[in-house]
Amino acid sequence: MKGRLQRTLKRAVRLQDMAVITSDDLLKIDADGYQDIRRAATRARNGGNAAFVCEHCGFPVYAPREPNTKLPFWRHHKGAPQKCPWWTGEPGSTDEVSASQFQGAQESPLHLRVKHLVAELLNADPRTEPGSVVVDEYVVLGESRRRPDVRATYDGKPIAVEIQLATTQIPIIVAREDFYQREGRHLIWLTWNFVPVERKHLLTAFEDIYYSHNKNLFSLDDKVVAASRAKGQFLVRAFWEHGSGWNSKISALPELEWPSSGLPFAVAPPLPWHTEFRKRWLEATTHTGTPWPIRRDLLLELAERLNDEDVDATHLEEMDVGALLNAILSFVSGKPVGSAQRNLVEVINTFLSSDRRHRFARVMRKVVSVTAGEKFLEKDSVAKKFSDAMSGIQDGPESVTGDVALLLFPDLFQKREPVG
Ligand SMILES: [Zn+2]
Repeated sequence: MKGRLQRTLKRAVRLQDMAVITSDDLLKIDADGYQDIRRAATRARNGGNAAFVCEHCGFPVYAPREPNTKLPFWRHHKGAPQKCPWWTGEPGSTDEVSASQFQGAQESPLHLRVKHLVAELLNADPRTEPGSVVVDEYVVLGESRRRPDVRATYDGKPIAVEIQLATTQIPIIVAREDFYQREGRHLIWLTWNFVPVERKHLLTAFEDIYYSHNKNLFSLDDKVVAASRAKGQFLVRAFWEHGSGWNSKISALPELEWPSSGLPFAVAPPLPWHTEFRKRWLEATTHTGTPWPIRRDLLLELAERLNDEDVDATHLEEMDVGALLNAILSFVSGKPVGSAQRNLVEVINTFLSSDRRHRFARVMRKVVSVTAGEKFLEKDSVAKKFSDAMSGIQDGPESVTGDVALLLFPDLFQKREPVG
């Protein structure tokens, strides 16, 4: 019965693009997609806005995980109209703890101990600016202020270390990350003695900071502390799980990647196949095109991904898929790719001047409208080229061309509704 009640709120609308996301969609979305929703809802809420609303009453909603099953469900934020047929009750304080409430909360003896351990290790490290280590003092920025567990200037960078012991909730996590980002301070979430578990059993509080650090998690334990003391250098243990089980290594802070936006990480997650493929295609391509035999190898790899026994590299080559990819990539990157044309008008007009590429016009029209915009399509020469090309038979979404486009450019061709 409880499971049924949790799915009371059937459909939410994402205001950004008006996509409908049902409670069933939420169950199908993978961990990365769920985290995007979780953060977008939280960030909007922290800023007094809404990212997702109930389709019935229009009140902001969020997608917590049900504590027992860990499955996400839609829930109204506090204060939703009780008349909504999908009324989900008032969230309790365990679901939405305000930052102010949290500041007053008691911290555990372990939290206190780890905090002072971090301060001690930082103080012993020559990369720490002398006198810069401060425990529990407010940092003020404009109207807002935060009290990091430990802050310091390390290796010339202002840093804040926050201890996460399975208690900090997503509104506070996001609020702190945004605050330190504005302040130009690099934040590190640190836990104590992290024990790797299967991803689906990972505590939500750990999963949140894992995503904060580009799918890395930082922890201290006895061994790391002993190694830190022995070397006189602040060390952390980095964990990552990029699809094939957990790995870990001990790292000093200067060994981490420090992106200008976002939190540091030790090992970046692998890029999705289509991103990786596009990168390699672009690297191989010059203004004279994508040379053989690199093109053959890449088309071979692409053909294997298509899951269609009848399509091989030769088939793709005969279709002139290489030219199609370069035309799409030109619009995606905003400049000619694989041709000596001077601009995108020349790119599309030259591309469509060949009869055998007319079948791609429908796909290219979509690409151009999403990237360069409808106005571009209204230019006289462009409009005429498309009108000529589209009078012939067009490759549709079910064709090999449609498969290739969706596989390599999901962001351009994905259906907006519903999300899945
Ligand atoms: Zn509602």
